[in-house]
Amino acid sequence: MIVEQIWTGNAYRNFNYLIVCEETGEALAIDPLDHRKCLATAKKNGWTITQILNTHEHGDHTGGNKPMIAATGAKLLAHRNAKNTIAGIDIGLDAGDVITVGRSVELLALDTPGHTMTHICLLSKTDEPALFCGDTLFNAGAGNCHNGGHPQAMYETFASQLAGLDDNTRIYPGHDYIGNNLEFTLNREPDNAAAKTLLTEVQHQDANNALVTTIAQEKEINTFFRLHSPSVIATLRKEFPDIGDQPDSETVFLKLRELRNSW
Ligand SMILES: [Zn+2]
Ligand SMILES: [Zn+2]
Repeated sequence: MIVEQIWTGNAYRNFNYLIVCEETGEALAIDPLDHRKCLATAKKNGWTITQILNTHEHGDHTGGNKPMIAATGAKLLAHRNAKNTIAGIDIGLDAGDVITVGRSVELLALDTPGHTMTHICLLSKTDEPALFCGDTLFNAGAGNCHNGGHPQAMYETFASQLAGLDDNTRIYPGHDYIGNNLEFTLNREPDNAAAKTLLTEVQHQDANNALVTTIAQEKEINTFFRLHSPSVIATLRKEFPDIGDQPDSETVFLKLRELRNSW
């Protein structure tokens, strides 16, 4: 499996992806907003885009569908319940569906509500798993919930699906927000040495060659995975004294999400 992360360089800081079967050169494009860049990359490498996956219905993820389908005839895949919000879906996905790319790549569909209620993440079935997580999980952060999502659903997705992924799972999000997100982590947990070190490393990184984190690393630097950290809880209590000294993890997650909205 080849993973090509494509930096769009747009104001929304979107990442697009091509997932390629090394044996056949067939490729699946994830959220190919910058269809020109995706097509040029495929052409340069001799790859054929045969499928498009939209992680969710927002325009910065679906905006490239039309020209991409016109250029390639690719099939469009998205959450089964997104039929009314994404035009022209060929294959509606449910949790547990397996998408095949060429001969050698298999991707498992995860139903991951929260950012919106029809959001799909893809998990590669490879020795070193890769997670394509759209606007659900970002490097050092979590997606917002104010355009069709629900914070409680986002918490459930983190707790019951993402937190259980293998430590070596590589994270490929829909946007480059790592700098801001690390600053939020440090705002919430000023003594997080790993976040501090990483921030100096990525502050001036070239998004064309962005750092790829793992789940293990996210659990150190992503405040939305650090719900039991005494430092996170102590900082949170200054703003929400009534949560007590042993708040449950859902309460901590929801308060963090609320603070991130206006941070
Ligand atoms: Zn979105
Ligand atoms: Zn987005």
